[in-house]
Amino acid sequence: MKSAAAPAPQLAAPPMKPQAAPVPISVTGSSLEAFGLKICECQKCPLGKTRKKFVFGSGNPKAEIVFVGEAPGADEDEQGLPFVGRAGQLLTKIIESTKTWKRDEVYICNVLKCRPPGNRPPIPEEVEACRPYLEEQLRLLQPKMLVALGSSAAQALLKTKEPVGKLRGKWHDLGGIPLRVTYHPAALLRTDAYKKDVWEDMKLLTARFKELTGL
Ligand code: URA
Repeated sequence: MKSAAAPAPQLAAPPMKPQAAPVPISVTGSSLEAFGLKICECQKCPLGKTRKKFVFGSGNPKAEIVFVGEAPGADEDEQGLPFVGRAGQLLTKIIESTKTWKRDEVYICNVLKCRPPGNRPPIPEEVEACRPYLEEQLRLLQPKMLVALGSSAAQALLKTKEPVGKLRGKWHDLGGIPLRVTYHPAALLRTDAYKKDVWEDMKLLTARFKELTGL
């Protein structure tokens, strides 16, 4: 597995206004960071007006596995980092329960980079406005494997309206990258019964990952 990389040399100055509030994008020095800085003042949809912070993503810019969630919640909006609230703490436990990755070895982001007010699910116009950002983020990351957390992420990535229950339990192919759908950690906080399914998904994920990477 690729380990957390040493900071790469600083790339060309991103087109960011000098007075812009610093955005905590934890991929210092990478082209991913440059991309995050380029888009972090986005006003393509009305969420640009209501957000506190733009939540680009966090983790290892050389990660071989990327977890994609729905959208920032209140804690993420405050901190500018994905999955830092209760669901995020559970996601960390899920990732680390595999004994294959530490949280900072993977990369975590969302379909939407800004919080929908009241944590409502994203609407299709928001998903489409943000889609190019997620696609470019994944192109820069080039992961070996993807995990969609919950229905919004699964449906956005796979361009389908099928429910998460139908999408999980099998491998999908996203432009050559194996993708697995599992329940969103927030759903696990509400419904204990999903825990064993997520555990099962993590076992299959790590087994396939080990096959792919020869770990
Ligand atoms: N839920 C998400 O989908 N993403 C986050 O970053 C936090 C909660």
